[in-house]
Amino acid sequence: MRALDATQLYFTRAAEHLGLQSRVCQLLADANRELQVQLPIEMDDGHLATFTGYRVQHNNARGPMKGGLRYHPEVDLDEVRSLAALMTWKTAVVNLPYGGAKGGIAVDIHQLSERELERLTRKFVSKLHEVIGPDTDIPAPDMGTDYRAMAWIMNEYGKFEGFNPACVTGKPVELYGIPGREEATGRGVGILCLKLLSRLGRDPQQTRVAIQGFGNVGLHTARFLQLADCKIVAVSDLTGAYFKPGGLDISEMIQFVHRGDGTLRDYRGTELMPAEQLLELDVDVLIPAAVGGVITNSNVHHVKAPIIIEAANGPIWPDADDHLAEAGVTVLPDILANAGGVTVSYFEWVQNRQYYDWSLDRVRQELDRVLSGAFEEVWQMAGERKMSLRTAAYILGIDRVRQAVELGGIR
Ligand code: NAD
Repeated sequence: MRALDATQLYFTRAAEHLGLQSRVCQLLADANRELQVQLPIEMDDGHLATFTGYRVQHNNARGPMKGGLRYHPEVDLDEVRSLAALMTWKTAVVNLPYGGAKGGIAVDIHQLSERELERLTRKFVSKLHEVIGPDTDIPAPDMGTDYRAMAWIMNEYGKFEGFNPACVTGKPVELYGIPGREEATGRGVGILCLKLLSRLGRDPQQTRVAIQGFGNVGLHTARFLQLADCKIVAVSDLTGAYFKPGGLDISEMIQFVHRGDGTLRDYRGTELMPAEQLLELDVDVLIPAAVGGVITNSNVHHVKAPIIIEAANGPIWPDADDHLAEAGVTVLPDILANAGGVTVSYFEWVQNRQYYDWSLDRVRQELDRVLSGAFEEVWQMAGERKMSLRTAAYILGIDRVRQAVELGGIR
């Protein structure tokens, strides 16, 4: 199955519940604009290499389009399309004044030096600057990109369009970024996990958690949930899964990752297992926080966790999702679970437009308020209409976009 098929299927199911007319469905499903660009850059050794970049602007009925920029070897138009649509529904679920977009470059960042990555990012902006900007489409970090790339984007965009820090979010705090953006997605996953545990009558202290991925999202999720007294028994990254039934020392693991090459390779004092085995552990909460399509028909029968929080985008294929629903597993869907990142990106954009500083306390309080509100709406709808949290979240998001399209008229 392709990532796009999964998003389309979830969209179609929600559209059927909403009784949307087919012409409205078509309008909401199709992307406004899709760009594919060739990016030739000079490498450090003098040879020329060409990469392919994408930006899909899905829908702007509710405001400027917003979405991350992913650097990964498997990025292609299909994946970017799917992620752009997810962003439209995600910004609507948490009721931000945005539409959805996504971008990416097919590149293995580990094969490029920092200078080469900078040249690549600047080349991408030089090809895109006319169609992005604070009132049209605002990029942000995603897999493989961080605050450095966002700073290069702001700088390069300014060369063409004039200085405007609100043209991109996820920037360094010292350069118009906002405190708390880096932790925001993981913190949001943690906040929503606690809300779900509370609704399900579970005690965080009795909750064993396994987290796939120990990058930006996985690491901050682990830190937040450990501080909330959950027991993190396993985390994984590309180097394997690290398991300790009595609970891992997350602070020590974070220090290890920051001191070394960014991975958990050679981290000692835990049981080391093949990375994919983490998904099958007997835990209370499973949090896929790495890549899409990791829970499929071939492994779903081995998944034992009664609660799954989709911190990554699209980690569960629809067939597997149906199986989990039948088995009574509660799944908190990506369009709500990982919306903390775009929410704090929105605060950064507001801050930049006001040329005003927000404190970390204020960011955290507002994040909690926005996510808690969205969670309650989704929870209530799922309960009233006896549907999954995923379908409820999609209905909430799609209906908000439908209203905006109908009220604004077809432009
Ligand atoms: P990242 O690049 O910082 O980290 C990814 C982590 O996943 C790394 O630890 C990597 O080693 C690990 N990983 C990759 N493949 C794996 C595998 N097969 N098994 C185990 N571990 C594996 O990326 P990130 O920013 O943390 O993003 C993770 C996910 O969260 C992505 O799906 C992304 O789209 C989603 N997301 C991120 C943000 C954000 O603000 N960064 C916001 C919303 C959604």
